[in-house]
Amino acid sequence: EEPILSVQGLSVAFDTEAGPVRAVDTVGFDLIKGRTLGIVGESGCGKSVTALSIMRLLPQPMARIEEGRVVLDGTDLVALPPESMQSIRGASVSIIFQEPMAALNPVHTLYKQVSEPLRVHKPELNKKSLEAEVVRLLSDVGIPDADGRLSAYPHQLSGGMRQRVMIAMALALSPDILIADEPTTALDVTVQAQILDLIRRIQKSIGMSVIFITHDLGVIAEQCDDVVVMYAGKVVERAGVSELFEDPKHPYTKGLLDSMPRLDAPRKTRLSTISGQVPGLMDLPPGCRFQNRCPHVMERCHTEVPKDLMVRTNHLVACHLYDV
Ligand code: SF4
Ligand code: MG
Repeated sequence: EEPILSVQGLSVAFDTEAGPVRAVDTVGFDLIKGRTLGIVGESGCGKSVTALSIMRLLPQPMARIEEGRVVLDGTDLVALPPESMQSIRGASVSIIFQEPMAALNPVHTLYKQVSEPLRVHKPELNKKSLEAEVVRLLSDVGIPDADGRLSAYPHQLSGGMRQRVMIAMALALSPDILIADEPTTALDVTVQAQILDLIRRIQKSIGMSVIFITHDLGVIAEQCDDVVVMYAGKVVERAGVSELFEDPKHPYTKGLLDSMPRLDAPRKTRLSTISGQVPGLMDLPPGCRFQNRCPHVMERCHTEVPKDLMVRTNHLVACHLYDV
């Protein structure tokens, strides 16, 4: 199973008033063609920074990729000049965000927004075929009466509809890879389910590969084939979705799973949560970054950074408990 995208040893630094901090530290994973890879972790764990690094959309000039490779079809995107990235964004890799209003231009009509990537990348389309293409894209993402809405503005739409418009824009050029960064977090449960369903349906119909970023393990279970668990800028565990849920290894992953609401649990069961706080990137402890919250912490955890260990084929964990 060939990876379509391979992230290797990626480290990203941010400048702060107190000096540079590493928001992402030697992160690696493969996205297999046609599959969905989930990246899960609490906010601030480096999920979005990883996504922005792949797109080369890190905030400038305060953030930079310090080391590592992002290999797409044999090309290292990290080494590409910025101009070449423009032809990759949208056409090969697209991204959608949690807040569609940030991606949509409030003074542009739906027609203008959705036709934009097409006008740039397919200048040969005449006005009529451009309009037909925009209507098709909007209908495909479930916007009812799309041809009657071409002159509508973003603020005239509900949050769910705006998210659909953003998805239509992201899919306009049939990218090979879609990165979805918490695309449903701001939506209510029903709309969330519709959007997840939409992404799955489109993925199947055009054979796209997806990176799905979320803090919600329920979404991971529904949506993903493979999972990367991140904590404080590092990958702590990586496995296929069923293996991760059935046989989690890292104490952090176990804690996340234990705090998941369960359908079969009696109604008033108290959810366990992981006590303590994620350490700030400014004051990371030496050794394991999870040590202050870990129920299994040992002497060496305070001094030695855990190595990446393969506990099985395709199952990686970074924890001293498995280093035997
Ligand atoms: Fe816990 Fe130590 Fe494993 Fe870190 S390395 S998760 S502190 S047992
Ligand atoms: Mg985020």
